[in-house]
Amino acid sequence: MADTAVKMRCEVCGAEIAEGSGSCPVCGFPVIYQIGGDAAAAENLKRAADEYRSQLFTSLEVGFVAYSHKVVTGEDGKDALRLDHEDKISLGSYSKFDEEEIHWYPEGFLRPLTPELECSVFVRRGSEAERVRKVSVPLPQGAGDIHIGMMRSGTGAVRVCIGNAQDYNCSEEIPVLQI
Ligand SMILES: [Zn+2]
Repeated sequence: MADTAVKMRCEVCGAEIAEGSGSCPVCGFPVIYQIGGDAAAAENLKRAADEYRSQLFTSLEVGFVAYSHKVVTGEDGKDALRLDHEDKISLGSYSKFDEEEIHWYPEGFLRPLTPELECSVFVRRGSEAERVRKVSVPLPQGAGDIHIGMMRSGTGAVRVCIGNAQDYNCSEEIPVLQI
């Protein structure tokens, strides 16, 4: 039976919804049952979903986590890098993100010695606690400071970009509602 069952997908974010569930487990959009399947009903559902999605994206703040380290001297007298604190650097509302343009954070960072940069993306919705996802991005060739930026990808995802406006690499797509 399960093989032939029609899988329900959320109209807003595309996540799969289990049968009998009242709302989407990812974005919370309610499952709307309709009598009849005429074009007007489908149009109404689409409009409700578009409205819900745009409100959701407006209230969704995205950014990345910056880790600051400091040098501490251990008991053995050797210096070591220790995580000092982390800062959440917000890039603003997801609804303002553009697919054509990267939002660059103006401050540069020291180029790491590793071939890839592992960074953490966060999303925050209203007063909810932030949710964080780690992502790694290969560093572009070259020297000097690097910048971090983000761009919109598709309807509900971001890509993290590392480098500068002329030379950068981007991460895989990260669906913002699934972080
Ligand atoms: Zn959904």
